[in-house]
Amino acid sequence: MSFNATAATMHSAAAQQLYPNLDFSSLNWLEQLWVSWYLWIDNPIIATGLASFLLHEIVYFGRSIPWIIIDAIPFFQKWKLQPNKIPTPQEQWQCTKQVLFSHFTIELPAIWLFHPLAESLGMSTYQVPFPSWQTMLPQIAIFFVFEDMFHYFAHQALHTGVLYKHIHKIHHKYSAPFGLAAEYAHPAEVFILGTGTIAGPLLYCYFTRNLHIFTVYLWITLRLFQAIDAHSGYDFPWSLQHILPFWSGAEHHDFHHMAFTNNFSTSFRWCDRIFGTDDKYREYRKRIAASKAAMKNKSKDEQEAAERELIAEIEAEGIRAEAIAEGSAPKTVKVQ
Ligand SMILES: [Zn+2]
Ligand SMILES: [Zn+2]
Repeated sequence: MSFNATAATMHSAAAQQLYPNLDFSSLNWLEQLWVSWYLWIDNPIIATGLASFLLHEIVYFGRSIPWIIIDAIPFFQKWKLQPNKIPTPQEQWQCTKQVLFSHFTIELPAIWLFHPLAESLGMSTYQVPFPSWQTMLPQIAIFFVFEDMFHYFAHQALHTGVLYKHIHKIHHKYSAPFGLAAEYAHPAEVFILGTGTIAGPLLYCYFTRNLHIFTVYLWITLRLFQAIDAHSGYDFPWSLQHILPFWSGAEHHDFHHMAFTNNFSTSFRWCDRIFGTDDKYREYRKRIAASKAAMKNKSKDEQEAAERELIAEIEAEGIRAEAIAEGSAPKTVKVQ
């Protein structure tokens, strides 16, 4: 069986087993590709597991590449949230190796579980046609809200004592994050916070019995875009948070890495706002705006120096907060 299934190949034994009475020509090109994949692999367990793994790799690294290029082009530095901290190629490569290691040692061996788990909850996998947009969009919206709330509380728990010291500290290695660092984390953290991404669809499917894995793939793609962009370190005038004011974006999460406190949620700003964990962040934004206004007539160098001073102050506070979270004595503050 070749990868490109055609209407003619739909008479094969494999096709008759998975897709009896399917009118191949009635499908759109993506659905035809989907059918071709399942027939080509000829084993739904491997086909679903491999597709899930490949989707993650392609989207994760595919979305990170533009940020690597942007980091290498000085023109974009004016939109860097912590302008003096551009990641070096060595840092990016080190991070890539670590992320790949955990993908291949933890995620890849688990691909056998995806299909049986999906099927046990009644999730559609190889089936076509795909659900309509009217079905998929509200489901994805629910997964976004669920994940954001789950992450908000789980992330705060990861900032306490033993959990921070032994697990979440790895993710905080970079006080100025970059796209590839989105999944730079302890395997236990990937598991704990990954639950927020996966549990939404699983619970939804358990209760409604109405979910296609294609919708889950769309959700995971968007969630990966969200996580990588939030770690990019850039805030452009066209970034999503300037269009949707409740969207977190890089500006929100970059502060979490820089200041160590505040801004625990992922996609939306409302949890931090409701529970008051964005007070320091909002004060910082006000001070940045006030400093920019006061320095309006000063030279570019003077403006940048003032911003750097403010960032150094917040970072120093972050180092103290991290020491407290770890339960160690506050360290001597190193101001750059
Ligand atoms: Zn954190
Ligand atoms: Zn982060």
